[in-house]
Amino acid sequence: MIKDNLHKIKNSISKEITLVAVSKTKPIIDLQNAYNAGQRVFGENKIQEMVDKFDALPKDIEWHMIGHLQSNKVKYMAHFVNLIHGVDKFKTLKEINKQAKKHNRIINCLLQAKIAKEDSKFGLSFNEIETIINSEEILELKNINIVGFMGMATFTDNQEQLEEEFISLKKFFDTQKTKSLSDNCQLNILSMGMSGDYQLAIKNGSNMIRVGSSIFGSRNYTT
Ligand SMILES: *Cc1c(COP(=O)(O)O)cnc(C)c1O
Repeated sequence: MIKDNLHKIKNSISKEITLVAVSKTKPIIDLQNAYNAGQRVFGENKIQEMVDKFDALPKDIEWHMIGHLQSNKVKYMAHFVNLIHGVDKFKTLKEINKQAKKHNRIINCLLQAKIAKEDSKFGLSFNEIETIINSEEILELKNINIVGFMGMATFTDNQEQLEEEFISLKKFFDTQKTKSLSDNCQLNILSMGMSGDYQLAIKNGSNMIRVGSSIFGSRNYTT
């Protein structure tokens, strides 16, 4: 099942697109099955759950934190996390930098942009992102790299609205990319698209998709 789902998705997207298999709430055996089918990039939204899975699974897996971050928990994943998608505060960047430094690592981060029209979604406005990436303070954070942006579209079937939201972030991403930013701010990754909308996200410029239920089946609870 998991293997077939993975291959179906892989075959439908170009090699340049990174597929993050979102395994939150799923048991280790499911992740092991995906691993056996060749998947190496996994996304989790709870730090403790990701740590437990990291401990139990092969060490060539790339772990992405896709959930909303609590600064006080960053320390538990600082020794292994490969990419943090949901950074929406400068304070969190500072904490990631501090913890990365302790492990002599540089941790890659995406700034989460608010593109959805809903109140419930986290994220920074485009103005707030510009302020952060152009700030003096960012230069001092030598143990983080800001490698791109992440966006979550509105939970809707309205294709036009989804497309509009993806396009707005892609445009902003392209504009920022052309500017000369600090060394630790090289924008290459645009993380947009989930099970329901990844085709549309890719069509509109995403190069990293976060897919859970289309690989592992539906979850008993959503977070
Ligand atoms: C759960 C989650 C996903 C995956 O959602 P699916 O609809 O199951 O593909 C993607 N991104 C984030 C931030 C998530 O929390």
